[in-house]
Amino acid sequence: MTIVADVCRYLELFAPTALAEEWDNVGLLMGDRQDSVAKVMTCLTVTNAVVEEAIAEAADMVVTHHPIPFKGVKRISTDSPTGSLLWSLASNGIAVYSPHTAFDSARGGINQQLADGLELSEVKPLVPLAEADNESLAGLGTGRRGDCQPLTLATLATSVANFLHVDGVHIVGDRQMEITRIAIGCGSAGEFIRPAARSGCQVLLTGEARFHTCLEAEQLGIAMILPGHYASERFALESLAAKLTEEFLGVTVWASRQESDPLKWTS
Ligand SMILES: [Zn+2]
Repeated sequence: MTIVADVCRYLELFAPTALAEEWDNVGLLMGDRQDSVAKVMTCLTVTNAVVEEAIAEAADMVVTHHPIPFKGVKRISTDSPTGSLLWSLASNGIAVYSPHTAFDSARGGINQQLADGLELSEVKPLVPLAEADNESLAGLGTGRRGDCQPLTLATLATSVANFLHVDGVHIVGDRQMEITRIAIGCGSAGEFIRPAARSGCQVLLTGEARFHTCLEAEQLGIAMILPGHYASERFALESLAAKLTEEFLGVTVWASRQESDPLKWTS
């Protein structure tokens, strides 16, 4: 029999919580480690649709990339959106685990999967850990950078769109610009433009960025590829579900089928 603690142990090995950013809230956020687990659902974010699906499918545990709760809460009641989601999950006995930035930065984490998907070589953390107190974290850090054969920004943008199965991506920069080194930060990592420029990258791939960050990138002469926050991370919750399926025989694991990108194109 698999229990919540077994799944936590596996996730902790796969994405050590010591890798998470200081401001983050990761690990087992709700639940009883001794509860048995027969069904696990992964998702990018806990929303109403995700909670309804978890309850309808009788999930015992939700592994959500984005933490809930994220900030300190003083009450869990249906008076607030977060309270409502937590109360629905808790009253149905559903545990919640979030790996978030530990998953972004892990050895086999989201940024590494993006680098592998784009077939980059010489892949390294964009911002290495200052000092790894733990040997298992040696050589790790935030974001990734890697090299590729010379290609244009337009060609790279097409590869990103193909890998992430999106119809289009936003870009900042000249379509014909030559790219040989790429910086990667899934989600919302506009703050990486400076470390990316310092590391000799011509482009930063991140999910989304603020308008003024895009202007700053333009001024620094660094291109950006922005496929959307959802697309830049959601694929990895599908591969995480596949990993958990392999690891826990007898446990049904799936990536939420009901969650979708809240941002839609008009046509
Ligand atoms: Zn995110």
